[in-house]
Amino acid sequence: MSFNIEEHPHRRYNPLTGDWILVSSHRAKRPWQGQVEKPANQERPKHDPGCYLCPGNERAGGHKNPHYKGTYVFTNDFSALLSDTPSGELNDGELFTAKAERGICKVICFSEDHSLTIPEMELENIRKVVDLWCEQFQELGNAPQINYVQIFENKGAIMGCSNPHPHGQIWSSEGIPAEPEKEGKTQKAYFEKHGRTLLNDYLESELKKEIRLLVQNDSFVALVPFWAVWPFEAMIVSKRPVQNILQLKDTERTHLADIYKKLTIMYDNLFKTSFAYSAGLHQAPTDGKDYPEWHLHMHFYPPLLRSATIKKFMVGYEMLATPQRDITAEQAARRLRDLPKTHYRKSINQ
Ligand SMILES: [Zn+2]
Ligand SMILES: [Zn+2]
Repeated sequence: MSFNIEEHPHRRYNPLTGDWILVSSHRAKRPWQGQVEKPANQERPKHDPGCYLCPGNERAGGHKNPHYKGTYVFTNDFSALLSDTPSGELNDGELFTAKAERGICKVICFSEDHSLTIPEMELENIRKVVDLWCEQFQELGNAPQINYVQIFENKGAIMGCSNPHPHGQIWSSEGIPAEPEKEGKTQKAYFEKHGRTLLNDYLESELKKEIRLLVQNDSFVALVPFWAVWPFEAMIVSKRPVQNILQLKDTERTHLADIYKKLTIMYDNLFKTSFAYSAGLHQAPTDGKDYPEWHLHMHFYPPLLRSATIKKFMVGYEMLATPQRDITAEQAARRLRDLPKTHYRKSINQ
């Protein structure tokens, strides 16, 4: 019997982070014995008087939202980072080290319409979200004490996101956070060795292999990475190596909006539910240096496993040893790729 990656347990290497994951494809069919949750009511009003993100409503900090249309950005009323933190360090021997951290946290509403999510928004309105990302990346990145800008979206109650209003966040900080820091090191080492970006070469191979691809347009590819941890994890990678979203051309911004919509339609169609995920852009630091090794991409980490209510937990072995998955990245890609391309609610309503 010879080793078959589709059938036998194995470890896979993530070249972006340097981490390994355990893949147990032989377990994908074992019966589920855990808790089954009830799906939440998916119908929502266009305006919710109790929502702190809807236009005209009062937020928890006492501020009132304007009657905005389209996107709206404000500084988080309960920011995790503050811009006026005094600088300083704690160096109490080699085992007790701390450093003051400054930053700015913002909330961005994607639309005035409380009932929408990205996969159900019009392309031109998602493009406005991309434009706002660009504006904010530039503004925050230009601030002297900001060296990294993390744009992300945390969607769904299952992800601990209490408000269903379509929105995302931008946390910008003085230090480079752990994940982009790891990816910066691996990308730099690869670039120095090969003179090309790691993701450029990875994407080229994936486009030839065609087994983990989900959808693509002229400027971006969405795929399930070889080293995916979450059951339906995906990544959007720019075909042209760019360090950050400000280097995207006008058409490329529209293509980013387009692939964001297409991937999230696949997600919603998978279990016919508004699919929860944490997603975010990874790009070069904003400390004024040049980072030719950095290649813009967007990660999607969704927790759902086998239905609208059965989610994967990262517990036990995964907390203590290494992340593990049952369904392989190739099986997940096949399932997502074979789904209808129209949003399931649109097909019901027509
Ligand atoms: Zn709302
Ligand atoms: Zn990344």
